[in-house]
Amino acid sequence: MSLFPTYKRHPVHFVDGEKAVLTDAQGKRYLDFGSGIGVTNLGHKHPRVLEALMEQARAVWHVSNLFEQPLQVKVAEKLCQITGLDAVFFCNSGAEANEALIKLARKWAKDAKIIHEPEIITFTGSFHGRTLATLTATGQEKVKTGFDPLPPGFRTVPYGDMEAVKKATRTTTAAVFLELVQGEGGVRPADPAFVRELADWCKEKEILLMIDEVQTGIGRTGEWFAYQVYGIKPDAISVAKGLGNGYPVGAVVADSRLKPVLGPGTHGTTFGGNPLAMAVCDAVLTEIGQTGLLEQVREKAEYLKKKLDDLVRSLPAVREIRQKGLMVGIELDEPAAPFIRQLLENGLVVLPAGEKVLRLLPPLIVSEEEIGQAVSVLHQTLSQTKIGV
Ligand SMILES: *Cc1c(COP(=O)(O)O)cnc(C)c1O
Repeated sequence: MSLFPTYKRHPVHFVDGEKAVLTDAQGKRYLDFGSGIGVTNLGHKHPRVLEALMEQARAVWHVSNLFEQPLQVKVAEKLCQITGLDAVFFCNSGAEANEALIKLARKWAKDAKIIHEPEIITFTGSFHGRTLATLTATGQEKVKTGFDPLPPGFRTVPYGDMEAVKKATRTTTAAVFLELVQGEGGVRPADPAFVRELADWCKEKEILLMIDEVQTGIGRTGEWFAYQVYGIKPDAISVAKGLGNGYPVGAVVADSRLKPVLGPGTHGTTFGGNPLAMAVCDAVLTEIGQTGLLEQVREKAEYLKKKLDDLVRSLPAVREIRQKGLMVGIELDEPAAPFIRQLLENGLVVLPAGEKVLRLLPPLIVSEEEIGQAVSVLHQTLSQTKIGV
């Protein structure tokens, strides 16, 4: 096989998808409670999204950012309206959006605060991507091993530890950067009191508060963005995964005072914000905005919680369940991988998050019936002890 052995893959080939259901090459059907990795939030083959892509594909695919792109303006205006922020930069992935956030914070610190070597505070357990800067920002050693020398300018403190943030804050601190629900780190929602205190601290010290909404964004937690669930106002956010429902796209959305920081020639991308991506994003944002989907996400999340409480929480293999909206982590007493394989065998796709956590990220359009089915498969599979041997 001529691919790098980068991924450990399940021996399953999905050939078709519709809403929350995937079909493999043998015709076996699976309930998709992974949505890729929190990407296909509107499900597979969503009619509005599919039509938007097809229509744009028949017109023009790519023109570069040297020419006007009215669709970028349209989608940016929607993102600004949703967030109350003022400036958008489009790119192609989560890591690229976070990379742009890091560049934005550094250049803002140099321009506005005359800090020559700005620092960014990040947190243990976080995940921000695989580029050199974003893996340095990531608070997990395993993604860094073998890739040093790493860029300087990051200070990692324990997640949720306000005293540590205060101690790590210097005159050279440009920004604090965090996920409000750590996704890859095990579905760990931040403590609301910590988040409020952190937001106040950033304001007081004139430090940027930057939220990585790559996994939590676009409705996943029951609001457009997790920071809205927490009731804070960040200076900038990164968005990706759910934004294109599977079409690769990322974005930085930032406050007006950061707008002048990325002037002509300071940053760029060949593919970012291309017409295909923008047509899809426009359809995704319109669909969620017009259909009352966020309200439904909150209802479905409540239903999922009740079902998990009834059938899964008290199983001997389960240590803890953590949930924000349709983002769920089921922490087990033992490695999750054998259970994930068995769940797949039983027709349910779920994801890992760290070694011992099962992560559920169903599409936001999942039905209550499908939630019931999934929880019943979870109950059945997790009830079997010694599955790993
Ligand atoms: C997935 C993810 C990223 C990285 O996104 P890519 O598109 O894989 O580069 C960054 N931050 C968070 C929180 C993520 O979940």
